[in-house]
Amino acid sequence: MASLSLKGIGKRYPNGFEAVKDFNLEIEDQEFIIFVGPSGCGKSTTLRMIAGLEEITTGDLFIDGKRMNEVEPKDRDIAMVFQNYALYPHMTVFDNMAFGLKLRKVPKEEIEQKVLEAAKILDLEQLLDRRPKALSGGQRQRVAMGRAIVRNPKVFLMDEPLSNLDAKLRVQMRAEIASLHQRLGATIIYVTHDQTEAMTLGTRIVVLKDGVIQQVDTPKKLYNEP
Ligand code: ADP
Ligand code: ADP
Repeated sequence: MASLSLKGIGKRYPNGFEAVKDFNLEIEDQEFIIFVGPSGCGKSTTLRMIAGLEEITTGDLFIDGKRMNEVEPKDRDIAMVFQNYALYPHMTVFDNMAFGLKLRKVPKEEIEQKVLEAAKILDLEQLLDRRPKALSGGQRQRVAMGRAIVRNPKVFLMDEPLSNLDAKLRVQMRAEIASLHQRLGATIIYVTHDQTEAMTLGTRIVVLKDGVIQQVDTPKKLYNEP
């Protein structure tokens, strides 16, 4: 269960550049929100502020009514999946997936159980001893997803998670993400340039330009579907 409330959020980088301006959005529990807009419009910056990886300069972020601005990333109950997967090259698939749980001092048996469970869902059971360089792009992408879902977070942030995959895998992983969304009952914010992804996955689409929200609408309304 997680609703998010972004109230007048803004980001000014140390060099003075205002990447996000007065961002207002109420996100309901279990929504699948899509951010679209040209490169540099502030999509990643907004995700990073929600995750706590980037300081919020103005405004307030609430999750389930609790103000999060100063809460450490590891205490936010949010998992992020990056475009480049950001796997640790020297660690096995198992250790990559276990890392976030170890960091939070989860007991060893529980870690094992959660990683195996996620590996099953994502069809990674045979690959747990491999290192990332011995995996295909699609398998790496699954490990990145696995690392996020083992924590059973209330909120998933995904920054173009499929953009490095070929067309066929993209379609397959898109379906997997849709089914994960159902299955986990999580709230998801998802950045993409792909209109098909936006239309098939999103409950609402947020269009950004130059750090400002231009439009927020359902896929149907935004893309003039009948
Ligand atoms: P998007 O994800 O939509 O491509 P970003 O959020 O990555 O956009 O970037 C938004 C704007 O902020 C871009 O113009 C980018 O160059 C700028 N930007 C990003 N990070 C920094 C930074 N650390 N310092 C200054 N400007 C930055
Ligand atoms: P993306 O793939 O989201 O567009 P970028 O390649 O723009 O990401 O940014 C990669 C990293 O560089 C990020 O950590 C971002 O904050 C930083 N960055 C981006 N633009 C700038 C900038 N103009 N000044 C300083 N750092 C930047």
